[in-house]
Amino acid sequence: MRNFSYVMPQTIEAASIAAAQKNSVLKAGGIDLLDLMKGDLVRPDHLVNLLSVGSPALREVAVKDDGLHIGALVTLAQLAASSTVPSVLAHAASVAATPQIRNVATVGGNIAQRPRCWYFRSATFNCARKGGNTCFAQEGDNRYHALFDNGDCAVVQASSTASPLVALGATVVTNRRRIAAGEFFVPTSVDITKEHVLGEGEIISEIFIPASARALKAAYREAGERESNDWALVSATVALDFDGALVKTARVVLGAVAAVPYRVISVEEALRGKPITAANAARAAEGAFAKAKPFALNTYKVSLGKTILKRAILAAAGQPELSTAGG
Ligand SMILES: Cc1cc2nc3c(=O)[nH]c(=O)nc-3n(C[C@H](O)[C@H](O)[C@H](O)COP(=O)(O)OP(=O)(O)OC[C@H]3O[C@@H](n4cnc5c(N)ncnc54)[C@H](O)[C@@H]3O)c2cc1C
Repeated sequence: MRNFSYVMPQTIEAASIAAAQKNSVLKAGGIDLLDLMKGDLVRPDHLVNLLSVGSPALREVAVKDDGLHIGALVTLAQLAASSTVPSVLAHAASVAATPQIRNVATVGGNIAQRPRCWYFRSATFNCARKGGNTCFAQEGDNRYHALFDNGDCAVVQASSTASPLVALGATVVTNRRRIAAGEFFVPTSVDITKEHVLGEGEIISEIFIPASARALKAAYREAGERESNDWALVSATVALDFDGALVKTARVVLGAVAAVPYRVISVEEALRGKPITAANAARAAEGAFAKAKPFALNTYKVSLGKTILKRAILAAAGQPELSTAGG
């Protein structure tokens, strides 16, 4: 690790000024950031510690008439244990990483974490996301990589909370503006060097979930190599609004399959006006991955993803996830 100055601002305004200095970075829990610094991928001159900002609102989940206000420094453990947070979000937070990490990792840092790709995270490879000319995953070891929009860069967005927040119609509130969660993340087709739209000195202060989300029936499902201490290989969040037995609106968001939480609009439209049955869920899951472009080593993510999505659809509708035929 290299030398840097350690800034401990008392207010968001002071943090923003410090973070806007040349070559400054913000630190919340530090789980992702310190990893990148130890790997010499991030070499800040100034490290601005958001944890020194005293504002209680940053650390609270507040229920108000308009919806839920989740402070950016609320930890994944707090989300997981909260009875006021939508259960789909609490569930996603509860299965992320490990208990130790969840106690430290914040929701703001979780959605702003840098993506997963071992070429991107190795200082040895000057990959396209770091300004080089090559995406080494295209021909290399691509077993964990993206299935969609992966031609120029194959990283995956690995935040467990991101997909539920997009599915719930959440808003990312910063010291400057309000950003729909679905527009917070930057697809590779727009810019392969960044994951989110935040500008210099821009700080997430809260995540807002509108009161209307309370009516949604939602579920999160993921599959990974290990039950703990690891990221999901693929995840799915489904949020349904029903009119009687028929789906009025659906949000279907896949995780770990693209550089952003991947909303599958065609499937959302296909589910609309229909009842949720095992057959409809299977058809929707099939359709969701119809345009996947797997690499040599990650075709398994397509079949895994279909199963996970089917289960998430059935779980959101409160139906049994496992048929006697399996899967
Ligand atoms: C073994 C292991 C397993 C893991 N498994 C999972 C998993 O299953 N699911 C999952 O989601 N994550 C997983 N993680 C990642 C971990 O959850 C994230 O690194 C963590 O949530 C980041 O939060 P943080 O508060 O530590 O952020 P930091 O590391 O402090 O910051 C991360 C990034 O966000 C920026 N940032 C932080 N807060 C703000 C803010 N308020 N405004 C603007 N920018 C901000 C920082 O500048 C930095 O770029 C795992 C990590 C490890 C080591």
